[in-house]
Amino acid sequence: MRYYSTRDKNRAVSFAEAALRGLAPEGGLFIPEQIPPYRKGVAGSLGSMSFLEIALETIGPYVEGEIPAAALEEICAGAFTFSAPLVLINPEGGAAGAGLALELFHGPTAAFKDFGARFMARTFSWLRRGEDRPLRILVATSGDTGGAVADGFYGVEGISVTVLYPQGRVSELQEKQIAGLGGNISALAVEGSFDDCQALVKAAFADPPLREKLALSSANSINISRLIPQTLYYAAAAGKALAGRLDAGEEATPRRLAAGVQDGVPGPGRAGPVPRGPITFCVPSGNFGNLTAGLYAMAMGAPIAGFIAATNINRTVPDYLESGEYKTRVSQATISNAMDVGAPSNFERMSAHWSHGETRRVVRGLSVTDDETRGTIAAVYRDWGYYLDPHGAVGWTAARKLGPAGTGPVAVLATAHPAKFSATVEPLTGPVPVPPAIQSALGRTPRSRTIPADLSVLRELLLAGNR
Ligand SMILES: *Cc1c(COP(=O)(O)O)cnc(C)c1O
Repeated sequence: MRYYSTRDKNRAVSFAEAALRGLAPEGGLFIPEQIPPYRKGVAGSLGSMSFLEIALETIGPYVEGEIPAAALEEICAGAFTFSAPLVLINPEGGAAGAGLALELFHGPTAAFKDFGARFMARTFSWLRRGEDRPLRILVATSGDTGGAVADGFYGVEGISVTVLYPQGRVSELQEKQIAGLGGNISALAVEGSFDDCQALVKAAFADPPLREKLALSSANSINISRLIPQTLYYAAAAGKALAGRLDAGEEATPRRLAAGVQDGVPGPGRAGPVPRGPITFCVPSGNFGNLTAGLYAMAMGAPIAGFIAATNINRTVPDYLESGEYKTRVSQATISNAMDVGAPSNFERMSAHWSHGETRRVVRGLSVTDDETRGTIAAVYRDWGYYLDPHGAVGWTAARKLGPAGTGPVAVLATAHPAKFSATVEPLTGPVPVPPAIQSALGRTPRSRTIPADLSVLRELLLAGNR
């Protein structure tokens, strides 16, 4: 497969170059020259395939000629060590609205970014085998990305990671996820804002001494190697919905357990009437990487009826869908803060593949307020005993209002475990059960170095090689 920049259709690059570079030299995003259709028979059998089989069928064509099947299998088996269950929450949902949750938070940092980050880490390591200069990943984070990237690359040979985060502006759990691992992961608490962290990383990439002496790369969410693995859970869930097969939920499924459920009322993950047919996915969105991955899965042939792009009040994309005009906004703070994005970075990729008209045919958009989001968290817990996190609740609200695109079910992507956002969720539901992944992160001691937002300090640390 060849890849092009969204801003330069003339220079093709390999998957390896697109992945290791992240961003094209003139600032564009890499896209595959075509979205490869599934081999004959695959799209109709997704419901009976294992996650690993789906991974190989789905990712294979994107890395063909570069990563042999056996190596890809090893990468995927190492990356996807947790499941993405499709769980029935509200058996009355049906055509009236949301009924299912696609739980994407069973990975080590309890958010969907684990899928992309873990695949990317193992892919980078494989692509750079035999290189003796270690690769250093620089990543700026406002909280969630840093944790997923740190965890994804932890212990991966030949690669070290430096995470820059705004001092005092991430949650205690996020700081432990970023700075509590040690080993090949170092953490810098920057005296400044997230924007200062991002500016520092950009300046480091442009700095001649650093470029000359170090092999630097980024793990930004626009990286194509983070996007491609996200197509998997769409394909797997679409297969299950078509086959009418749901999952029972996992140990860490955040539900009120049997004792709290009235007899005869099905709780989350219990048996119920099973909606069957092409599924509609409702995707809580910020930078729109996740939704773009869903569109890839649909274009490959996965049995998907359509999408709902759910945003908080940062409504750039719902407005675009409505009006055809793309106007970025200054981002506003909300309780679903991983989606506080006014200029979604993946929009350029989406619009390079699909026109406004094409996008509108499969994607409906809706913007949701914080009050509505809180109301949904409280109501879903009260009625169904299921805990939604604020991001999932934005999705649930939109799905309930817009309903499915066809006659099949709607699944809301539950992008984070509610225990990650307990400060918002618990006042509405009472104590949220804490999953083992979060439990173990909470036991870590964060070790970071505080630095001013100053390139010369960062340069010295990086060149000294100790941080
Ligand atoms: C990153 C994130 C999102 C937004 O995903 P995009 O791919 O940026 O649209 C939604 N929910 C959670 C919990 C996230 O961490």
